[in-house]
Amino acid sequence: MAYTVLARKYRSQTFDDIIGQDPIAQTLKNAIKTDRVAHAYLFTGTRGVGKTTMARVLSKALNCLSFDSPTAEPCCKCESCVAINLGDDIDVIEIDGATNNGVEQVRELRQNAIYRPARCRFKIYIIDEVHMLSVPAFNALLKILEEPPGHVKFIFATTEPNKVIATIQSRCQRFDFRNITATAIAEQLKLILQQEKIKYEEDLVLPIAKMANGSMRDALSLLDRLISTGAEPLTAKLLEEFLGCPNSEKVWNLVAKIGENNAAGTLAAIEDLISTGLSEVQIADALIDNMRDLMVVKSAGAESELLVAGAEHRKHAGELAEMFDIAGLVYNITTLEKLRWTIKNSETARALLEASLLRLALSEHFLNVDSLLSQAPMGQAKSSPVSPIKKNEVTNRIPTSQPPVQSQPARNSQQSTSETDTGVDSTPRQSSVQAGLPQDEKQQRRTPINQAKTSSQRKNEIVNDPAVKTVLMELGATITGIEEVENQHET
Ligand SMILES: [Zn+2]
Repeated sequence: MAYTVLARKYRSQTFDDIIGQDPIAQTLKNAIKTDRVAHAYLFTGTRGVGKTTMARVLSKALNCLSFDSPTAEPCCKCESCVAINLGDDIDVIEIDGATNNGVEQVRELRQNAIYRPARCRFKIYIIDEVHMLSVPAFNALLKILEEPPGHVKFIFATTEPNKVIATIQSRCQRFDFRNITATAIAEQLKLILQQEKIKYEEDLVLPIAKMANGSMRDALSLLDRLISTGAEPLTAKLLEEFLGCPNSEKVWNLVAKIGENNAAGTLAAIEDLISTGLSEVQIADALIDNMRDLMVVKSAGAESELLVAGAEHRKHAGELAEMFDIAGLVYNITTLEKLRWTIKNSETARALLEASLLRLALSEHFLNVDSLLSQAPMGQAKSSPVSPIKKNEVTNRIPTSQPPVQSQPARNSQQSTSETDTGVDSTPRQSSVQAGLPQDEKQQRRTPINQAKTSSQRKNEIVNDPAVKTVLMELGATITGIEEVENQHET
């Protein structure tokens, strides 16, 4: 028997089967029960989230021959249900908008639509990728949507609703399909693997689910490819080998080197990843994912549901998170995201990747360079909007206003009481040495010049950065570390 791809073999059959779209399924069921089915629907959402599946289930519900009227629970066994499942029913016509996008096709559709259905209650047109229709085709479609015959229903599906003209949209009931969560996809994968009687290791399913980015179809096609290798049991290692996704151990290693401020180690870890055949963009993606996990662990704990990961991954993330703080991680993620866009079209992607990761690894050195640059001529404190947040110890960061040795006149009397009067802090090297000192010694070594002002300025800058705002909002987190420093110095 020919191999049926999993996505087809396991396509949901009823409203209750459909994964991750419960509110839509429920609404449609209610519409059927209360006899309020609209004559046109617009299903939107990314690929593989269940739009076509939902369209077929709705068609079965409207046309099932085992019942005298539309039903919320189609039998899936009658002639009509079976034909709809296969996509070749005479009354449920599936049209691919991408290839049948001309006005002639829509005119033909209009001419056929006036005839009553052959054997069922409704003639249903499912138009996939409806945004691909030409403008004349849209206009022709509009005509029939304005006064549709009672026996006709339309279900439009699109991945790009903004390209569907407003006059069409306003005549449809619109449903926005959500991306399916990785956890829901993983559950379904497990179920399928069990039914297929294929042995697998537990830590295989979540990485596949995450790679699928909310699309069940993508997840199943990844699983198809893995199954076709013939290997058993299926393992996460196999996934990395065959599908070219980053070796998780090597990515963790790179993150650790950045956390350790280890420049040589960072470069070696990049080389290690590139030698496995990964592109620079893939490495940046993998790093963003991992830094995001650390940020979640740091803000919500290693057991948080926001972290989509198995036990081992959680443990690993928990350990590595100790090397970073939230503000530093937020900075790293936003930097990596910018880097990702830059290197996509760059001919010197590798150099850019290395330079950026070194910057993350050695951020406190760069902090001081920035602070020197941001200084006003008279040693007046001035905030630097571009200076990065220190990776470690944000609460103990050195004020950006710190003057170099030669700017003696700018120092105030407060400073002369400090142990750092000799100016040791002004060299980049010292600041990284400082990070390793015990807490109270660091406090003493700090130059408190303009501390309170700089801290609140810095906090405002960080908190008001649009990228940081978005990330914090998603996490429901706030930055508190900087404020603590501020209070400490004010009191
Ligand atoms: Zn049926």
